Amino acid sequence: MEVKTSLLDNMIGVGDMVLIEPLSEDTFIENLKKRFDHNEIYTYIGSVVISMNPYKSLPIYTAEKVEEYRNRNFYELSPHIYALADEAYRSLRDQDKDQCILITGESGAGKTEASKFVMSYVAAVCGKGQEVNKVKEQLLQSNPVLEAFGNAKTVRNDNSSRFGKYMDIEFDFKGDPLGGVISNYLLEKSRVVKQPRGERNFHIFYQLLSGASDDTLKKLKLDRDFSKYNYLSLDSATVNGLDDAASFRTVRNAMQIVGFMEDEVQSVLELVAAVLKLGNIEFKPESRCNGFDESRIKDKNGEFCSVHFNYHSYHLFHGFSFIFLFLQDNSFEQFIINYCNEKLQQIFIELTLREEQEEYIREVSNSQYMKTNRKWSSLNVCNSNIIYVADFIIVVILNPTTVYHNAENYFSGLLIHLSTILVYICPLHVFCCLTVYHSLLNVVYVVMAPPTAGFQFRASVGTLMKNLLTKNPNYIRCIKPNDKKAAHIFTDSLVCHQARYLGLMENVRVRRAGYAFRQPYEPCLERYKMLCKQTWPHWKGPLFFLEEKRRQCLEDLATLIQKIYRGWKCRTHFLLLKKSQVVV
Ligand code: ATP
Ligand code: MG
Repeated sequence: MEVKTSLLDNMIGVGDMVLIEPLSEDTFIENLKKRFDHNEIYTYIGSVVISMNPYKSLPIYTAEKVEEYRNRNFYELSPHIYALADEAYRSLRDQDKDQCILITGESGAGKTEASKFVMSYVAAVCGKGQEVNKVKEQLLQSNPVLEAFGNAKTVRNDNSSRFGKYMDIEFDFKGDPLGGVISNYLLEKSRVVKQPRGERNFHIFYQLLSGASDDTLKKLKLDRDFSKYNYLSLDSATVNGLDDAASFRTVRNAMQIVGFMEDEVQSVLELVAAVLKLGNIEFKPESRCNGFDESRIKDKNGEFCSVHFNYHSYHLFHGFSFIFLFLQDNSFEQFIINYCNEKLQQIFIELTLREEQEEYIREVSNSQYMKTNRKWSSLNVCNSNIIYVADFIIVVILNPTTVYHNAENYFSGLLIHLSTILVYICPLHVFCCLTVYHSLLNVVYVVMAPPTAGFQFRASVGTLMKNLLTKNPNYIRCIKPNDKKAAHIFTDSLVCHQARYLGLMENVRVRRAGYAFRQPYEPCLERYKMLCKQTWPHWKGPLFFLEEKRRQCLEDLATLIQKIYRGWKCRTHFLLLKKSQVVV
């Protein structure tokens, strides 16, 4: 009881959520808030890192911090993203275990920043040398290039990634990086044509116009004035805190480091310029001629070639983005992004919650050495219904080869079948509209023309998930503290909402019901052998003991460690697992 009181009274809260007493949604949020108020933006749930976006720069990513966390065990120091990066890197280097780091959270929660901190940490601690340094620089400098062409200012985030990124970094046996492959998922191309109110086009357009020399702009036949271009919305052309001109120089330099030749850089800039100019072409409808509806460019200048598109088909072509615009967030693209997030959440549930739960139940029923009479009550942590529905929508509804003549009836039929799966469909005038409850957040989608991209994307998400499942997962769960992009503001309801849909409470419950920390048997014995008379000073390794003696020895050791840790952790139980594992 003393322990519990002291934890609650702790000014900066508890570093690991499994230690909160009593555990409730309120104490969980209160703990995050306390820590946030003291600039402690990282908190663990066992090995999962919760990262709160501070919206201000903190002096916690210095070279000294890197040294502090280097080669230290996960729980030795206060929670930090570097601890996770170090753990992942060392398991990869020393135990040859492939790692994946999954960074999730809503727009503006800090995923991109977190990925950069992880990358820069690994770059700082892995090998040196001219070749290795070149690879490291290339990996790090891929970020400004990708962000210039794939990020934009949105209402939620001034530097929002409009694509999903999967970065595969290969290391050699010494732990030196050999190179990397970056895959992008579903770049929001429609943004080029039209941006929602208060948002911008991709950064590169503004960077080029602000940062290129007069000479370059002249060669590209561009004007520095944003307002000359239809594709660059005017109401938010400049963004506080973003220096487009300086970023252009960074991007140009980064392109060079990544390996673009000078003529390739020029070609890329010419393409960017061409897109801006294409956006300024305006069409007007013409009367029918030779049986075709015709449209013409309003102001003819320079060379032109003619293609038979009528005025409406032109607008249909352009209108693709209008449809998405009209639907705003909950477009097909958003549906696909949410689908991907649900799949990632599924992996999280599978590996962090379900497997843990199943292993616990298995081990408890097998073990005669169990030292707790804690009752296990199964947690319902499943989002497979949503995935089932989303798969169904992609395969059946959005599949272009499937034609439904009476869509309304079809959807009503679906409703009957799926009503228990939290889907309802309400036909609108033109579109059919359906609501999917994404991890506790209901989102209304409008089914439209059937985009084949859905099918392709589903396949690539499937491949990604298979790939991820072969690796050891490390989780960073990013949370944004407020909707104002501001420092020092912690909106309880917003944080609570994110914690819910990220399944964090269930995560803590599983961790608490089971065992928070695991260590293989041998290193644990090696580390604590001096604590116990059976293992010190004459310990000669675990094989020295007969099974019975080994068990006795472990239990003595466990009791001692419990005594030592009393007052620090509220729960330190030992459990003999399998042949050679100890759970603390
Ligand atoms: P999106 O899904 O829109 O791409 P995101 O989760 O990638 O969002 P970020 O771009 O990483 O969000 O973060 C948004 C902004 O929050 C950053 O531009 C930065 O200003 C701030 N931020 C995030 N994490 C940190 C941090 N650890 N320290 C300081 N500022 C941060
Ligand atoms: Mg991002």
